[in-house]
Amino acid sequence: MPFTSKTAALTAPRTFSLIGRAIPAPAPDHVVVRIAATAVCHTDLGIYEGAYANLKYPVVMGHESTGVVEAIGEQVTHVKPGDPVIINPIISCGHCDLCQRQMQNLCRNAGLFGREVDGSLAELVPIAAKYAHPLPLELALDDGTIIETLATVKHAQDRLGIKPGESVVVIGQGTTGLLHTQLAALSGANPVIAISRTRWKLDMASRMGAHHALDISADKALSEVMRLTDQQGADVVIDTAGGAATLAVAIDMLKPGGRLSPYAVSHECCASFTTFPLYFKEISIIGSRALHPTDMAPSIELVSQGKIDIRGFVSGTYPLSKTAEAFRAYEGNANGVLRLVIDSREG
Ligand SMILES: [Zn+2]
Ligand SMILES: [Zn+2]
Repeated sequence: MPFTSKTAALTAPRTFSLIGRAIPAPAPDHVVVRIAATAVCHTDLGIYEGAYANLKYPVVMGHESTGVVEAIGEQVTHVKPGDPVIINPIISCGHCDLCQRQMQNLCRNAGLFGREVDGSLAELVPIAAKYAHPLPLELALDDGTIIETLATVKHAQDRLGIKPGESVVVIGQGTTGLLHTQLAALSGANPVIAISRTRWKLDMASRMGAHHALDISADKALSEVMRLTDQQGADVVIDTAGGAATLAVAIDMLKPGGRLSPYAVSHECCASFTTFPLYFKEISIIGSRALHPTDMAPSIELVSQGKIDIRGFVSGTYPLSKTAEAFRAYEGNANGVLRLVIDSREG
């Protein structure tokens, strides 16, 4: 210590620069993590394309990150150098009213590691030790990046409270849709109905426990969902596709008393939306934001116990020095990949 860390910095939309950054020895309650793998997702694509107006450049992206502890501050006891870790990227202030009530994911001063705070597209990152969660030694660090996404999915499903025997529809079978499908099946939901227009994603959904895999667009799936639920409608609909049109049909798919998770975030206005179906069927719309620190350990456990299958989510791997190439490839085929991984161990 100190180290120099090669870092992929976004200096303007669609423009990367590889720079060297000095990393000082960790503060007493911090660790320095030698990054192994960073998965990039739609949030990163939005940052890359300039969709976030108030960003301060340069931005160092990367919030789905695993690595190995390189150094620890003197107060750190839960990890030691050499330990594999995954980073909880939801940075909270610790002193606002919501943090004080243990609602860190809703922190009034929240930032995302990899957007407001420099993230993991680098060789080394300093971070408060509480954000570094130990991983089992046998877990592959590239596949392990998906645990961050799993924690956000678990957070949403904990809020939905899915019970055995309930019918669950998952609209969209990208990374989050597939994880929702798996987790719903694991909760004993039956049937779990997966909807996608992409055959290989539906095949993956079936492998991950979907009882029915519908190759149809969501707006045309209502009659099939009704048929598969004995004309009752579903107890739970989870929308991982987002968009105004999907919200209306998702509500139509629900049985009276049903719960809707509008999991995917969309800026589209819902022009045709009326509150009448909410009244008539007494529907609950249950929002969820990111993940809570307490979602991390159980998500790691779900994977280490083999209850959640994380194979097949990495569609391609690029070395850190080829970050720009990775993002160009991702932007050109956003629906054709699940996650691209940037490997910081390979320059
Ligand atoms: Zn992400
Ligand atoms: Zn706070």
